[in-house]
Amino acid sequence: MHRITVIGGGFAGLTAAVTAAEAGAKVTMYEAHHTLGGRARTAEGPYKTNEGPHALYNGGPHWVWLRQRDLIGPLAPIPPLEAARLRLRHKGVLRRTPPFAMLKLLRPGARQAPVDVDFMTWATEQAGEEGARAAAHYSAVALFHHDPGSLSAAFVQERLRRATKLPPEAHYPRGGWASVIDRMAARAWNLGVRMETLSRVITLPTDTPVVVATSLDAARRLLGDDSLTWAGGRTALIDLAVRTRRGDAFAVSDLDSPGWLERFTAQDRSLAPAGEQLIQGQIPIAPHETKADGIARAEQLLDLAFEGWRGRVTWRREAVANGRTGAVDLPGTSWRDRPAVDRGDGVYLAGDQVAAPGVLSEVSFNSALTAVSLALGRNALDLKRA
Ligand SMILES: Cc1cc2nc3c(=O)[nH]c(=O)nc-3n(C[C@H](O)[C@H](O)[C@H](O)COP(=O)(O)OP(=O)(O)OC[C@H]3O[C@@H](n4cnc5c(N)ncnc54)[C@H](O)[C@@H]3O)c2cc1C
Repeated sequence: MHRITVIGGGFAGLTAAVTAAEAGAKVTMYEAHHTLGGRARTAEGPYKTNEGPHALYNGGPHWVWLRQRDLIGPLAPIPPLEAARLRLRHKGVLRRTPPFAMLKLLRPGARQAPVDVDFMTWATEQAGEEGARAAAHYSAVALFHHDPGSLSAAFVQERLRRATKLPPEAHYPRGGWASVIDRMAARAWNLGVRMETLSRVITLPTDTPVVVATSLDAARRLLGDDSLTWAGGRTALIDLAVRTRRGDAFAVSDLDSPGWLERFTAQDRSLAPAGEQLIQGQIPIAPHETKADGIARAEQLLDLAFEGWRGRVTWRREAVANGRTGAVDLPGTSWRDRPAVDRGDGVYLAGDQVAAPGVLSEVSFNSALTAVSLALGRNALDLKRA
């Protein structure tokens, strides 16, 4: 029987553990935290927040994989009346529809954007500056960067397409992402995966192939390899519970500068106590900006879309996610240029900033599958030789 070690019990680590165990390997997984899930954890207690606004995109490869194994569980669909309450801030006012120029970039037959040019330059040629800027800001919902227009046009276009598809790709596991994590962990358990929590790995084991399924920062420290870096976003997070008021927006996208607010109880009442609504927002901030700058912009959006929210607040929390929202690709680079999965000597990386395709957590998923197939293939070869 092949043996394999997985370091990290987030979405990537659990994907790797389940995949390897399904292939017949004996898997040991170590997680530093006392619970599994990593950035896909959902807070316990009365307000069931994910780490910032989270949606599971059903156009990705993880969707089919999770579905086939019955790991998604019940979903919380957005009631049509609530979906109609999506608002866009443009030129300081709330609108229901995007500016016409932005729609030019969303046409099904739109040209494939190039890798080596920034999105703003390319999109301005296609749709003019106003449409390009609005589209760049809208795409921030799926890339968490303060200046999406400065990133590779191909990279931004993919996220824009996925985030604006109709019917929407965004889906919401009832009870938050932790419900999916719990199902993945149960499957791993049933397949015989040994899972050790509160087990921070300090040195890499050398007796089995290893999948390092941590953040890229943690992998850099663990492997002592300073080349393990890639660009990412920095975003201010606001979690807010407010007393219910009819007429609140469902979600607000800021087209004047990047930012997104979403009232998650619109689709899932179980996330907050009765009579309260849970709003989660993310406002990307530039390197020189502070959390307070981001929160001030979030409050401007709240003022527009959630009338009287200040007097209705029952709970509030703020944070900054720095480099925790996946990879962003600069002009001239694509996912293929990120740190390779295969590090040599039986060590493989999985995570959302490594060389694998997809949007956000799909990168963790895809890299986990690649890491396991390389690890087991290599192990099989070694066994044959022995
Ligand atoms: C604000 C925000 C919003 C997001 N929104 C979305 C979204 O809408 N859709 C989407 O698809 N994705 C979204 N994401 C991204 C998604 O959460 C991540 O891509 C995904 O959870 C990453 O999973 P991972 O397993 O690769 O890494 P992690 O979740 O970081 O897991 C790594 C695990 O490794 C553990 N670990 C680290 N070092 C060690 C060690 N030495 N020994 C043992 N264990 C260790 C950590 O404790 C952690 O549990 C969002 C992320 C954020 C922060």
